[in-house]
Amino acid sequence: MIDDEGPSLRGWLATLPESDILRVAEETDLDHNPTALVVELEKRGRAPVVIIEKPRGFAGPVIANLYGNRARIAAMVGAAPGGFNAAWNAAQSRLLPAVVGREGPVHDTMLTGDDADASLLPISRHFAGDAGRYIGSGILVCKNPDTGARNLSYQRLQLKGPRKFGVSLHSRGHIWENLRRAEELGRNLEVAVVIGVHPAIGLAAAAKVGKDVDEFSVAGGLLGQAVQLTRCRTIDIEVPATAEYVIEGEILANTHEDEGPYGEYTGYSTDRSTRNVFIVKAITHRARPIFHDIIPGYSAEHLLLGRATREAHIFLRLQEMAPWVRALNYPKTGTHFHAYVSLRQTAQGQARQAMTLLLGLDPYLKLVIAVDDDVDVFDEQEVLWALATRFQADRDMFRIEDSFCNRLDPSSRDGVSTKLALDATTSPGWTATRATPTREAESWARRLLAEKGL
Ligand code: MN
Repeated sequence: MIDDEGPSLRGWLATLPESDILRVAEETDLDHNPTALVVELEKRGRAPVVIIEKPRGFAGPVIANLYGNRARIAAMVGAAPGGFNAAWNAAQSRLLPAVVGREGPVHDTMLTGDDADASLLPISRHFAGDAGRYIGSGILVCKNPDTGARNLSYQRLQLKGPRKFGVSLHSRGHIWENLRRAEELGRNLEVAVVIGVHPAIGLAAAAKVGKDVDEFSVAGGLLGQAVQLTRCRTIDIEVPATAEYVIEGEILANTHEDEGPYGEYTGYSTDRSTRNVFIVKAITHRARPIFHDIIPGYSAEHLLLGRATREAHIFLRLQEMAPWVRALNYPKTGTHFHAYVSLRQTAQGQARQAMTLLLGLDPYLKLVIAVDDDVDVFDEQEVLWALATRFQADRDMFRIEDSFCNRLDPSSRDGVSTKLALDATTSPGWTATRATPTREAESWARRLLAEKGL
């Protein structure tokens, strides 16, 4: 629909088949209802993009559940279902720096002073235990105070007043380091909160890439074209020219206030927070803007957004050092704390080596299960079957105690937890044979069922 403006949320939306969209035409309360709708859809095994056309009391529309399934995530980067890892890895070797300077529709409307009232934005309240209305879809763009290197990340923002949000930097990522450095220099950290971009940019923002890697250049690699940026009006930050909304402002140095609780990916409501404060300086948006919401908590979309790039990135690192690794899955049941890895061992101990690497690469992980490559790591039933039949607790497991972890794990203490590795691969001398139908019979059954439309 809009070819000349470059990748955008509305341009991507126009490419979606109508069968992949659930439009809610009735007037809808943004408090709790969109979240309940996506949670109910997931129980039914469905994950359409949800468009709330008439949010009660706000200008619409609000769009949610973009990242609700893997096939749609693969399509966002031009890949077939199952092709996301390859597309992600290809993008890493052709990073495309963003281009700054073009004016864009993000500045169609510019609100400053008392007009920059964030409470008028269609921001939802998600879970019963949440402290208030939250933006979970905001991509926070900031710069390293020393080098100017840009950084993109998601951080939850609790609406606290017309020009004030509470913000938690609990993942202790690059933005947290940038704020600490700004505080050392006696300055606030300028931040632009970007809402509503082409979802490939949203995926790049979710990735844990190197400190000096501009996530916009990762997005450029994924899109096959440089992201066009434009300068903010009140801060020295650049944002996508086609973004739907941008909130310009700064995180205050050495200022802390209560923030949370908020429903997090762990499935728990948590007030574990760095308790920072973000002050709004300006709000800009497109004409007839689309507000993008990410359903938080233990939703498929929240977990997949974090997992898709995490799996691809960690898998690439792991295979560099352990080429016998075949596949990696972060199952939804494990939030971000469990991983299943399959491998084809050519020497003893390679399962342990791979699991040690994995636990070292990803501090979120608490449990790793290794299986042989005849087991499909994306089929949790197969993994647990391998655990039931190929694992003995006296010789096939090890622990790493008091290791750095994600603090949102409610069972962790003081930022550390114990990591567990279970080796459910077969050992040398293994003689048991899997009971499977013959290949010929399998083909016959598949043909028969296909003919019957099953
Ligand atoms: Mn970064």
